Amino acid sequence: MTITTPDPAKHKKAKALKPSSRRPAKELCSECGLCDTYYVHYVKDACAFIHQHIAELEEEAHGRSRNLDNPDDWYFGVSQDMMAARKKQPIEGAQWTGIVSSIACEMLNRGMVEGVVCVQNTKEDRFGPMPVIARTPEEVLAAKVNKPTLSPNLSVLEQIEQSGMKRLLVIGVGCQIQALRAVEKQLGLEKLYVLGTPCVDNVSRAGLQKFLDTTSRSPETVVHYEFMQDFQVHFKHEDGSIEKVPFFGLKTNQLKDVFAPSCMSCFDYVNSLADLVVGYMGAPFGWQWIVVRNDTGQQMLDLVQEQLDTQPVMSQGDRKKAVQQSIPAYDKGVTLPMWAAKLMGIVIEKIGPKGLEYARFSIDSHFTRNYLYVKRNHPEKLDAHVPEYAKRIVGQYKLPEA
Ligand SMILES: Cc1cc2nc3c(=O)[nH]c(=O)nc-3n(C[C@H](O)[C@H](O)[C@H](O)COP(=O)(O)OP(=O)(O)OC[C@H]3O[C@@H](n4cnc5c(N)ncnc54)[C@H](O)[C@@H]3O)c2cc1C
Repeated sequence: MTITTPDPAKHKKAKALKPSSRRPAKELCSECGLCDTYYVHYVKDACAFIHQHIAELEEEAHGRSRNLDNPDDWYFGVSQDMMAARKKQPIEGAQWTGIVSSIACEMLNRGMVEGVVCVQNTKEDRFGPMPVIARTPEEVLAAKVNKPTLSPNLSVLEQIEQSGMKRLLVIGVGCQIQALRAVEKQLGLEKLYVLGTPCVDNVSRAGLQKFLDTTSRSPETVVHYEFMQDFQVHFKHEDGSIEKVPFFGLKTNQLKDVFAPSCMSCFDYVNSLADLVVGYMGAPFGWQWIVVRNDTGQQMLDLVQEQLDTQPVMSQGDRKKAVQQSIPAYDKGVTLPMWAAKLMGIVIEKIGPKGLEYARFSIDSHFTRNYLYVKRNHPEKLDAHVPEYAKRIVGQYKLPEA
């Protein structure tokens, strides 16, 4: 059941509930924050890991769900436009060029919204997530750059209703946005804008530490990192230096358990329910990737259009063989010696998939891995939890026996 109609009686009852420390999704909980609020009452319908109903929510948010006859829809979701873009004047210290922060600042400056749900960091820890409702551009800018850990963004939902805010922008990743869309009608807003980023392979704070310790030459000085389109992880350090580690050199055998079980079970890499998505995976190296899902998303993008250089999306190469070969290699936790990983990285960078084909490569690799994970660890959930579009993507490959 989708929670579409506000039901004052039910909502009053929900508000009387104390937020629960119980997480009904158990080990699959992505700590989106919903259960920290009285909206926990809706969790069984809203949680992305208990009740998958993306198609229904797409219909409500965008006026249609994915067209299953169109493979682009399988991969990228409902869209009315797509492009590569970057800010002419990047925001210093943003994750990429700061398109997300710029849109949020414009929306506040122009009075389109009264607040922005975003994630600053805690005083003690640059990667420790601290969700806030920003009311000024300065507060939005203080949230720039990824906190690459599970973040309880929805824990601030109660404050929205209490503050009497009527127009709100929420920035978030797929699992947060699925739960948000499911309770949207209960928030008492006149207008909700949703600015999403793609997300994959997220980790708990402890998991992040393990990843940094295992992969970087200087874990304590990392201020920013990204899995880039050149098949390398780029770590930026406090002194401004960039360290590059090829994907194929990651210590897969040690990192196999580092990703959160929720992320190993996620099939919403591209944030299906946001009005506008800003990532990088479908764009050429150095550019951000923009997906406009509906008219609201277009309105948001229009606000910063003049600040951007743009180019059409492109697609080059053929990912399928590489994906098929990587399935058993990942499954067995194969780790290459660094010299071989570097060599392979150089070759793949030259002849490998680019633009939208790189995005398909990444989606295929993660969906096949996640399908196997759910099949092995939660077989009873497999059929209902995996959306139809993801079944079609996974169906293109031969998977190892469970
Ligand atoms: C955990 C995570 C994983 C991602 N993985 C991918 C990926 O695989 N492929 C891809 O194309 N793009 C991915 N992205 C998006 C990409 O890394 C950039 O965030 C995006 O392109 C925006 O860059 P920017 O410079 O415009 O953002 P900025 O202007 O720097 O703003 C970043 C925004 O991200 C929000 N944010 C930070 N941490 C979190 C968090 N943990 N949860 C929710 N919101 C957060 C902040 O509130 C801030 O508003 C991911 C983002 C996150 C947060």
